[in-house]
Amino acid sequence: MREYEYHAPQSFESLFRLASADGVEVRFLAGGTDLMPRISAERNQIPYDKKPRMRIVYLGALGLDNVTEEGERITIGACCTLSSLLENEVVKTKLPVLRDALAEMAGVSIRNTATIGGNIMNASPAADSVPPLLALDAECTLRSASGERRVFLSEYFTGPGKTVAKPDEVLVSIAVKPGRGGSSFKKLGRRKAETLSMVNAAAYLELRDGICESIRVAVGSAAPTVVRCIDVEQALVGKKINEEVVREASLLVTKAISPIDDIRSSAWYRVRVAPTVVARAVLTAAERKRG
Ligand SMILES: Cc1cc2nc3c(=O)[nH]c(=O)nc-3n(C[C@H](O)[C@H](O)[C@H](O)COP(=O)(O)OP(=O)(O)OC[C@H]3O[C@@H](n4cnc5c(N)ncnc54)[C@H](O)[C@@H]3O)c2cc1C
Repeated sequence: MREYEYHAPQSFESLFRLASADGVEVRFLAGGTDLMPRISAERNQIPYDKKPRMRIVYLGALGLDNVTEEGERITIGACCTLSSLLENEVVKTKLPVLRDALAEMAGVSIRNTATIGGNIMNASPAADSVPPLLALDAECTLRSASGERRVFLSEYFTGPGKTVAKPDEVLVSIAVKPGRGGSSFKKLGRRKAETLSMVNAAAYLELRDGICESIRVAVGSAAPTVVRCIDVEQALVGKKINEEVVREASLLVTKAISPIDDIRSSAWYRVRVAPTVVARAVLTAAERKRG
């Protein structure tokens, strides 16, 4: 068994006091949909005679649950729940690629508590909000007692469950510029709902007279982290976008991925299906751009 402390600080000052090292292991809690099952599983592994104390620090009372717009920049508070973002007018109208993903994440009850910051910080390669945010070239803001720093999401993940955030850093927000392009997210799961991705992909592209001027494509659940598909992107820039061109370029996604077998899918299947998921994301993004 383990001893737990629970705190819900209402200021960053109190938060950082609680998070500063005094020998107690600290875990930040947002919606708890990833953290609580993990704590439960870990608890059963701890020998009965060892009782390391754990301090659980809730982040939900710090006012990190707003979406704000400043010029072209949209900033999403890390503690926004998936449901609140799904209902948010700015997300609905300006970030369709993120909205696509939110609508396919978990079910209503999980979405009502799960947060976007938790999805990012959990750093699962299958996290559905990450490919859209990578396709939008999002930037994360981390805060600790020593100040704030910004890190592009493209440099954020270092492995499954791992990010560049230090143990005392809190993800406070994620910022994106929606741009003038079209965007889309596609997810392949074992079921239509309440399921994690076997493979997912997001695309953002800008077209002029049907020619791809710039594009970002990200694929998830197919490598240790969500990855950008640079070869697919390079193969499409300067090309007239049609189904044949996109399907051929999407085959290059296999250069970016290194999938594993797990309970949701085999590596063999992921390699074969990833090009289709990528092609669908790119084609829908192009369709949306054309209107
Ligand atoms: C039934 C079920 C279905 C699910 N379906 C999906 C799905 O379809 N797609 C998908 O991507 N995920 C899914 N998930 C996973 C989970 O719901 C999401 O990853 C969710 O967004 C996590 O957010 P949370 O607020 O619950 O995070 P928490 O569980 O509170 O935290 C997750 C991790 O991030 C850390 N953390 C949280 N917020 C911060 C912060 N602001 N700063 C620093 N560290 C922080 C915590 O310490 C913890 O390590 C599902 C989970 C369940 C239980």
